[in-house]
Amino acid sequence: MLKIWRLVVPTYRYRAQQDARCQTCEVGFDIVQPMSDPALKQCPDCQTAIIRIVGTPPTCVTTQRWNEIRLLSDMNLRKNGFKKLVKQSNGNYVDVLRK
Ligand SMILES: [Zn+2]
Repeated sequence: MLKIWRLVVPTYRYRAQQDARCQTCEVGFDIVQPMSDPALKQCPDCQTAIIRIVGTPPTCVTTQRWNEIRLLSDMNLRKNGFKKLVKQSNGNYVDVLRK
């Protein structure tokens, strides 16, 4: 059943065309998209130019991974009011989401 559904609605993989500006397009992500839909042009998180990578076999695991990446992306953390403390070389912690 799932196999048939996958044939009808394929999964496409995207990644940043040149310089990734967020975790989503740096790692790349898979998206389930009808074949009739035009290819995505921009990263959903940072709007940087992305390209579709042809020939990646569709899997459910990567869709789950995409959700995890999205959930923990700096953009999403910032949007939901989280802090992301990263230890600096001097031993202090700095909230890297603060601009
Ligand atoms: Zn991005």
